[in-house]
Amino acid sequence: MTHTAISPHSQHSAYVGRFAPSPSGSLHFGSLVTALASYLDAKHHKGSWLVRMEDIDEPRCVKGADAAILTTLERHHLQWDGDVLYQSRQHPRYQEKVNQLLQQGAAYYCGCTRKQIKAMGGRYNGECRTQNIIDDSHVAVRMKLDNPLMSFDDGMIGHVDAEGEPEDCVIKRRDGLFSYHLVVALDDAYQGVTHIVRGRDLLDVTPLHKTLYAALGCPPVTYCHVPVAAVAAGRKLSKQNHAKPVNNKQVMTNLLQCLQFLGLAKVMPLDSQHYSNPESLISAAISHWDRKLVPNTAEIIVDSNESTYYSQPL
Ligand code: GLU
Repeated sequence: MTHTAISPHSQHSAYVGRFAPSPSGSLHFGSLVTALASYLDAKHHKGSWLVRMEDIDEPRCVKGADAAILTTLERHHLQWDGDVLYQSRQHPRYQEKVNQLLQQGAAYYCGCTRKQIKAMGGRYNGECRTQNIIDDSHVAVRMKLDNPLMSFDDGMIGHVDAEGEPEDCVIKRRDGLFSYHLVVALDDAYQGVTHIVRGRDLLDVTPLHKTLYAALGCPPVTYCHVPVAAVAAGRKLSKQNHAKPVNNKQVMTNLLQCLQFLGLAKVMPLDSQHYSNPESLISAAISHWDRKLVPNTAEIIVDSNESTYYSQPL
């Protein structure tokens, strides 16, 4: 029996959403938008909403960032259901799956370096599939992907066409770290996730995720991709470009700005006078939530340096 079958959450809920931040820094405006969109979509559909700490790439994690993220969510009244799942504590479950895939011949060791893959034209050609490479701790593990990339219907964008063959996906890296692609699939299945609302920066990888989930036997999920907040065209707010952390002392202002970004101004007043507190604002937003309101655009420029910003789909 796989862990998927004994998942703590997978039994009944028709809608299980999740927010899955990587604790490489505090939440910035763009990540608060994603958290709020995923929360509102879950609660509007009477679903549960989980938080998963994606601390799988431990060298990139910042000490204390997980606690800072959870504090920001709580201050903004985005209360998650159940316990927070930390990927860093799930290694035995991931390894068990990797071993199983190796035993079944669905995955194989690959010793190819980046340089070798570059020489193949930048796309891994699957040559280690037949080489019977053994584990010498300096090799990666790849999952065989024999089916084409999968198109899908995004709950906000509509039909997203994909074509082409995926390369065999690294599921465990040469440095011993499990890959993001593997753990996101395994954890969504383990936690019984049915709906993923996340940033448009992950749209390009979604056809691969669809294909990988199917190859792993993980149940398919519904995707909704919200625009990313950017400081200029093509420059999304991110920890890497030092986006300011969300100021937990101006919860009402932050929530109003996020709701403005998400297009809710068309259906509810976004003015602090109308609400006695952040909870009443959130509960109005849950009732009015509609995926169709969210601008169907890849990014929205926000002014990262001011407390005000303009919300103008590009
Ligand atoms: N951990 C990813 C991030 O912070 C999100 C992954 C996902 O939502 O699927 O960008």
